[in-house]
Amino acid sequence: MELTTLLKEKFGYDEFRPGQTEIIQKILDHQNVLGIMPTGGGKSVCYQLPALVLEGLTLVISPLISLMKDQVDALNEMGIPAAFINSSLTMPEINDRLRLAVDGKIKLLYVAPERLESYDFQQLLRHVPIELLAVDEAHCISQWGHDFRPSYLKLADIIQQFDQQPSIVALTATATPQVAEDILQRLLIPKENQVTTGFARENLAFQVVKEQKDTYLLEYLRVNQNQAGIVYASTRKEVERLYHLLKSKNISVGKYHGGMGEQERSKNQEDFLFDRIQVMVATNAFGMGINKSNVRFVIHAQVPGNLESYYQEAGRAGRDGLPSEAILLFAPHDLQIQQFFIDQSEMAIDYKQNEYLKLREMSQYAHSQMCLQRYILRYFGEDGPDCGRCSNCLDDREVIDITIEAQKVLSCVKRMGERFGKSLIGKVLTGSKDQKISQWHFDELPTYGLMKDWSQKEVTQLIDYLTASGFLTPTEGQFPLLKIAPTGIEVLLGKRTVTRKQAPVRTIVKDDALFEELRALRSELAQEQNMPPYVIFSDKTLQELVEKQPQTTLEFLQIKGVGQSKLEKYGAAFLEILKK
Ligand code: ADP
Repeated sequence: MELTTLLKEKFGYDEFRPGQTEIIQKILDHQNVLGIMPTGGGKSVCYQLPALVLEGLTLVISPLISLMKDQVDALNEMGIPAAFINSSLTMPEINDRLRLAVDGKIKLLYVAPERLESYDFQQLLRHVPIELLAVDEAHCISQWGHDFRPSYLKLADIIQQFDQQPSIVALTATATPQVAEDILQRLLIPKENQVTTGFARENLAFQVVKEQKDTYLLEYLRVNQNQAGIVYASTRKEVERLYHLLKSKNISVGKYHGGMGEQERSKNQEDFLFDRIQVMVATNAFGMGINKSNVRFVIHAQVPGNLESYYQEAGRAGRDGLPSEAILLFAPHDLQIQQFFIDQSEMAIDYKQNEYLKLREMSQYAHSQMCLQRYILRYFGEDGPDCGRCSNCLDDREVIDITIEAQKVLSCVKRMGERFGKSLIGKVLTGSKDQKISQWHFDELPTYGLMKDWSQKEVTQLIDYLTASGFLTPTEGQFPLLKIAPTGIEVLLGKRTVTRKQAPVRTIVKDDALFEELRALRSELAQEQNMPPYVIFSDKTLQELVEKQPQTTLEFLQIKGVGQSKLEKYGAAFLEILKK
């Protein structure tokens, strides 16, 4: 059968994405190949489609359990027999699935890399002719990568021991040239068989926001309240803080980090996948293997340790190809957390140096004036035109007048005698009950509590800004005292205004009544079958349904993401709504 016919019939897509044909052809020619494609680029099809064509089994090595179940569910939905084996299963269940593989009843078998190391499993594999070995997240094989996994290193040796040598397809979305080189070498892939479609994500808009992080976050979540997204923080403690902050504002939020029990974690993860909660606040323990395609934004509330991690985590937004946002809320002191992680780690010294260097590049990204997408591409050894979507390309930060607020701060500094640091000044302005304040009788000042609807943090950020802008002069030392600079006096006298650039809070997509109706139906069907909604249809498919409004099964089949199997299962229900 023609490959494109197969693509349409099974997966519901009309044409291949860049790189897919090339990779698939090489696999079918029994060559080893490395595919580097951006997240959402369509890596899975690269081995799932050959798996249908090949006689033998396709063994998929994938690092995370949650991803496997998802992928297998999705394949079964498309009418493709597949199974996974991992530690969540009992021994009899594992044996059942192996039997299916031995009998040739499944085309794809997903396992974690650790499983290949097991002697028993290796023995069993002797009875199953493996024709294709797909190595997902292949960057995990490189010690120069940001996510090195020792069990990946042993892969190559284990494969060599197979009676019959399968062809290998390695896939990843994040590989610096150094990491790509490593993958080629370890998995015996010839250099000319590296297919790179580029790292650029055409539907992602990158932003860096440097001021008033909490305020920005809350406002963003308020205006985008119907959208799903992830908020990443570096520590469990910060996850907890943000979780409670969002919760207190009635945002539909869940949390996920390594300090929580297994049960609570998987419940929260499922709530997010099933669209039962909108926002997930998490450490980087969350997400690898999250296949949810309708994640509309990924916000990093704290800077991650390197650009590879950042791009991978941010890349979880918009897998369905719809416009999505990747926002970094940057504060210089968050770099210290990452610095601490590296200091504490038990890596060899040259790997440590490498990590410090990566952290520096992450910080440069935040300060860069160039197109953010392009900055990332260059980091991965590529280049491209300016994206026209990121906060640097647009620089549409609004200029707001903060003269009055500045006057409040400056006059407070003056009344306190220019002998204190920002923390106490902030406390006086917000009307704190701190003992020191009554000791010094600052609660009798007219500026006491003048900014009581601001948080202490917001006021100190404003003081930092006024200092950085030269309206206040700090003394030397670790806890500088603040004095009013000559320009500050002009502000107090009303001879000078103070402005500040503020990142605008944008809304992502407009809501649409029909879309919502289809989404509700999808949720209902998903719930009945206990599957995440996006496994049934992606947001992109729903959107195309809204645009094209198919009225017949034939028209319905023309929609991207609708194959024969899904048409049979869901066509009638969706058509019923569309016909109205
Ligand atoms: P990756 O693993 O590269 O991040 P996926 O394999 O999950 O990406 O694919 C991302 C999305 O693109 C999925 O919803 C997938 O079904 C869809 N997709 C894959 N190939 C095509 C194609 N040729 N045409 C349209 N959509 C595709």
